[in-house]
Amino acid sequence: MSAHVRQTAPFRWDGVEVKPYKGEGTHFAGVTRQLLFAGGEGLACELRYFEVAPGGWSSLERHHHAHAVMIVRGRARVLVGDRVIDAATHDLVRVPPLTWHQFQPAGAGPLGFLCMVDCERDRPERPDPAALATLRADPAVAAFLKA
Ligand code: MN
Repeated sequence: MSAHVRQTAPFRWDGVEVKPYKGEGTHFAGVTRQLLFAGGEGLACELRYFEVAPGGWSSLERHHHAHAVMIVRGRARVLVGDRVIDAATHDLVRVPPLTWHQFQPAGAGPLGFLCMVDCERDRPERPDPAALATLRADPAVAAFLKA
């Protein structure tokens, strides 16, 4: 494993592929994923960089594993549980286990964030109609949610 991975362009790194966020789906839009650190050498977590284009959104999901997220490009609006948070560049967002979350850019530019996550983790769960109705009961959350 290389000790130093250089940035080659803003938010691009040497040898790190820009990949689709997830497989096919309509529950997200305009998101790319870069795996910066894949775990190993006793460190059982991954560090990923996600970028969401203006107008895009990450999937609305929850899971048993947690996320620690640092906004590094632009500003975010984030659903965490039943709250919509405004997060500025270099703010930290914590997503606890089994907590609904969705990331969206705020403002004109893209949103970029680093996300730390366990290597061994469960698959994200999507809300069923009942869970969605519960979330949407809050007008602020209803206005925020994209899909
Ligand atoms: Mn997640």
